[in-house]
Amino acid sequence: MSITDNIMRIREEIADIAAGMGRNPSDIRLVAASKTRSSDEIRQATAAGVDAVGENRVQEMLIKNAEGAYNSAPLHFIGSLQSNKVRQIVGVCDLIESVDSPALVELIGKRAEAQNIVQDVLIEVNIGKEPQKAGVLPELLPEIVELASRTEGIRVLGLMAIPPIFDKNERTCNYFDAMYQLFVDIRGKKYDNNHVRFLSMGMSDSYADAIRAGSNMVRIGSAIFGER
Ligand SMILES: *Cc1c(COP(=O)(O)O)cnc(C)c1O
Repeated sequence: MSITDNIMRIREEIADIAAGMGRNPSDIRLVAASKTRSSDEIRQATAAGVDAVGENRVQEMLIKNAEGAYNSAPLHFIGSLQSNKVRQIVGVCDLIESVDSPALVELIGKRAEAQNIVQDVLIEVNIGKEPQKAGVLPELLPEIVELASRTEGIRVLGLMAIPPIFDKNERTCNYFDAMYQLFVDIRGKKYDNNHVRFLSMGMSDSYADAIRAGSNMVRIGSAIFGER
């Protein structure tokens, strides 16, 4: 299967799921998770019409960006972000999906302000409270969203999560449901600077369940590009 075929098949499945829920398929963003993929493979994906490309590593992203890998597709940063790399991605990425600390909020805001731009971000939530995983704990989410709303240069567009994966999908679904509830809660609050509308969850093995739980942004790697 070619990259183009894979994307068409995934789009069809997303459309089916959306139709079954009475949702508009075009409201669900397909992000190609392109870590380790070549610029040429990524160009095939953007030509086939993914909504965005997501990269995990700053260095890798900057190299491929210089090679023109992303065409004009929106570029997302989805990997764990070290504060010393913030300077290199603010203003380069359309959306930083993996903001998970007050320090990062402040730093991104400062860098963006210096460039006279507003950086769009998602707050990553460690919904499974896994010690080894990135993301803010769910109970600290309101605090960080509130901080972002008071910080110039940064705008929160939603939430991102990588829930624990189990053999039994049911347990993963509970985390998707919990994320959707957090999303609804945060969206219901009125913040100055924030425009919460994206819930980024679901990968190759889990996007159908994630969408059924209310995700409107899926990050898909191997189902598009093949196994890594
Ligand atoms: C790699 C990656 C994905 C996609 O994973 P697949 O299982 O290959 O679809 C999604 N999100 C993040 C943050 C990733 O690093």
